[in-house]
Amino acid sequence: MLRFAPSPNGPLHRGHALSALANRRMADALGKPLALRMEDIDTQRCPPSLIEAARADLAWLGVRFECELQQQSTRFDRYRDALETLKAAGLVYPSYATRREIIAATAHGARRDPDGAPLFPGDDVAVAPADLCARRMSDAPAAWRLDMAKAAGLVGDLTFMEVDALGGEARAVRCEPLAWGDVVLARKDTPTSYHLSVVVDDADQAISHVVRGRDLYFATAVHRLLQTLLGLPALRYHHHALITGDDGRKLAKSNGAVGLAALRESEVDPAALRADLLEWLHRQDGEPHGDGEK
Ligand code: GLU
Repeated sequence: MLRFAPSPNGPLHRGHALSALANRRMADALGKPLALRMEDIDTQRCPPSLIEAARADLAWLGVRFECELQQQSTRFDRYRDALETLKAAGLVYPSYATRREIIAATAHGARRDPDGAPLFPGDDVAVAPADLCARRMSDAPAAWRLDMAKAAGLVGDLTFMEVDALGGEARAVRCEPLAWGDVVLARKDTPTSYHLSVVVDDADQAISHVVRGRDLYFATAVHRLLQTLLGLPALRYHHHALITGDDGRKLAKSNGAVGLAALRESEVDPAALRADLLEWLHRQDGEPHGDGEK
């Protein structure tokens, strides 16, 4: 089983279309079903209207899904259970520092994670001692962070399997989860995080192959680590090339991505769009070419 798992916090654009098509193409090549998952743990930013719009855009694009839609916002209990398992193993700890405090504490030359964000320096570095003590005593809202050194030490060397665009030619990639520091597994505002929910859902949905953009290549180390800690199966991954915006960064609403709905309104032919996107992928990656229409 494969899944396309957008975060519906804005309209879908060509970058999403590319990822959906890359998923459909591998699913067809392997003869496996494809599921649609909405990663909507951020319920404020992911209203039902955006979820419906995303489904309409994908239907217009002509991407078929064999399974019922799954929404992460309906599965918080499952993520809580996984967090409890990690708590019982002493692998997570409550963290009280605010984003602003972390930024201030790391303003001068902190080490950075693979996404370029400063590594979490520890509550005792980011928060004044009296404040930290008061927050701990008063049950102030806490995020739950993974004790990365402990977790990575416990599992030892880890690899994940990267496959080609059609799911073949696997090669082992060494995981470097320590590069991420103590990642947040449950946020203050929601009892989970991207890393925790994606790992739980991939296992619960019996996903075998994950197809997603290269922006998540290094995050796979965190997912592989969590799978190991939670006793979940290892998956195969393919990280496809990303379309970039005018600023050279991954296509997003903020750098001028045109939404699929706008393309539909301007009477773009979805078959031509599909062919263009798959052709583009082919050129980027030397990937096998196919229409992906089903
Ligand atoms: N929801 C994530 C995103 O839209 C993708 C998650 C994944 O494919 O693992 O970036």
